[in-house]
Amino acid sequence: MEGTERKNTGLFGQEPRITAGILTAPEIRVAFDGLYREVSSGRTVTGEAVFRVGDWAGEAVFVPVEGKASGFTLKDVVIGKKFHWQRSEDQTFRGCLRLIREGEGVTAVNEIGVEDYLRSVISSEMNAGSPLDSLKAHAVISRSWLLYQLERKKQGEKRPQPASADDGDEYIRWFDREEHARYDVCADDHCQRYQGITRAYTPAAAQAVDETEGIVLVQDGRICDARYSKCCGGVTERFENVWEPVPHPYLQRVADAAEAVEIPDLTVEENARRWIESEPPAFCRTDDRRLLATVLNGYDRETPDFYRWEVTYAQDELSELIRRKTGIEFGRVEALVPVERGVSGRLVRLKIVGSRRTVVLGKELVIRQALSPFCLYSSAFVADRETVGGKTLFRLRGAGWGHGVGLCQIGAAVMGSRGYGWKEILRHYYPGSEPVRLYD
Ligand SMILES: [Zn+2]
Ligand SMILES: [Zn+2]
Repeated sequence: MEGTERKNTGLFGQEPRITAGILTAPEIRVAFDGLYREVSSGRTVTGEAVFRVGDWAGEAVFVPVEGKASGFTLKDVVIGKKFHWQRSEDQTFRGCLRLIREGEGVTAVNEIGVEDYLRSVISSEMNAGSPLDSLKAHAVISRSWLLYQLERKKQGEKRPQPASADDGDEYIRWFDREEHARYDVCADDHCQRYQGITRAYTPAAAQAVDETEGIVLVQDGRICDARYSKCCGGVTERFENVWEPVPHPYLQRVADAAEAVEIPDLTVEENARRWIESEPPAFCRTDDRRLLATVLNGYDRETPDFYRWEVTYAQDELSELIRRKTGIEFGRVEALVPVERGVSGRLVRLKIVGSRRTVVLGKELVIRQALSPFCLYSSAFVADRETVGGKTLFRLRGAGWGHGVGLCQIGAAVMGSRGYGWKEILRHYYPGSEPVRLYD
């Protein structure tokens, strides 16, 4: 194990257990591999069983009988919910099975140790070909994210609700993960993708988790809410410019480069424009396709086009798109006017000037969704109105992919490939935080 001393922080003195909601259905088919005991009745079960709504009143808990059980399989679990590759498969888990009645369905919940959970998550989220130190950095931030959620739940903290500043001329919203009432995390991308031991753990992912066992990022005695996104575009964004207005000292502006490069104040419009129109060096400015493929699942592009990118719309097309995506009758869109930018150049508020209405939109995700059939790469863009062959066009040129807060996944992979250690990677993206081992 790495030389990170275990500290008594009063946070988690031993490995916590976590409950992961896997699926909800009117009936659930389970194959117990070995002997399980149902806690309330004390009876043992093995082999296949079907559970239906109405079979029991509250919750049934099945625990493996020590030395006589190796796991249980849930049949026909739907994976890739709401994605085009949705399909169902049988999934196998370790640990306990809880069946909870929820409305007209039964929810299967897996209760398991955090480290086992992380081995599965890192195996399915990260490609085994990633540099080991970027896998380790990812293991530490996944663990931090998870224990941060558990800690909040324990203390009964509620996130400030998205503020609505709707006076008709302004629509400002932000979106964060909603908490689950009956378990800690779900098995989908909403939380972290979790498939139990259905697929073998990749050795590199298991090694990354084992060698960082119990380590989380801590600042001022609290576990860090370690956010990450795909590509910062050269500079990372502050938490409060994307979500609720609560500063997190470790989620601040970081120049994603080796040297202390001089970066202009990107909240100033001229500076942001010059920055976005140029391609300054950064860890995440790379065209190493092999490395990119290890970070981005299913990456198959000819050219990496997200460090700097461009999208062009005809005026009519843009007007119709924005109307459809926002439900606001702007009429013909005449201009896109930056109102407020964050420290990475990402727009926090954008004024859309239409022939019938003018409305200021924010924060970044609202802007990205309004200006794309799916979602724009980022809100760090400049928009120019141009006339070509008598047609009015809007040309958007932008930087980065994602909200840009916290660790830059592509930058971290590049750092790992250049020999930076996981602690250096984490120190770079989460300034002022330190890795602390809570348990081992
Ligand atoms: Zn979830
Ligand atoms: Zn970056």
